[in-house]
Amino acid sequence: MRATPTTATPSPPLATTLDRLRTHGPLGPVWWRYGRQPWQTLTDALANPDDEAAHRVRDEQHRARERARQERERREREEARRRREAAAGPCPTCGRTVHPPDPAWGQDGGEQPVEPGDDCTVCARAKERERQEDEARAAAEAEAAAARRGLRRFFG
Ligand SMILES: [Zn+2]
Repeated sequence: MRATPTTATPSPPLATTLDRLRTHGPLGPVWWRYGRQPWQTLTDALANPDDEAAHRVRDEQHRARERARQERERREREEARRRREAAAGPCPTCGRTVHPPDPAWGQDGGEQPVEPGDDCTVCARAKERERQEDEARAAAEAEAAAARRGLRRFFG
């Protein structure tokens, strides 16, 4: 409530009825400030939602919501970290600890996320490279064998 209205901030026009004044008295919810919910106490009717006190209250509410949001996000990150730690296990090939992918670091796990018991990415890549080399060698041997058979048919 404004304690000393000044000419710069004129009091807003308020209305009431004699019946309401008789029933509730001047301190009761008998005041109607135009453009608002009817029947407020004088304090509420005179309060200006745009004044500094209301601004401070909204500011504090905003900061409280922001603190709550940050705290919630911190707890979610902590919980995700705990889940990742709990899901970590040794790479069966090299023994290095394998963590599941961390979305917070932009790791979505790709098409085949690393699960506990899987090889670490280094070992998985090395095994994939070996597999491709074996395939290429097998294909080359098959091609050579087919060529020998072709020569035998040609000369035999
Ligand atoms: Zn490994």
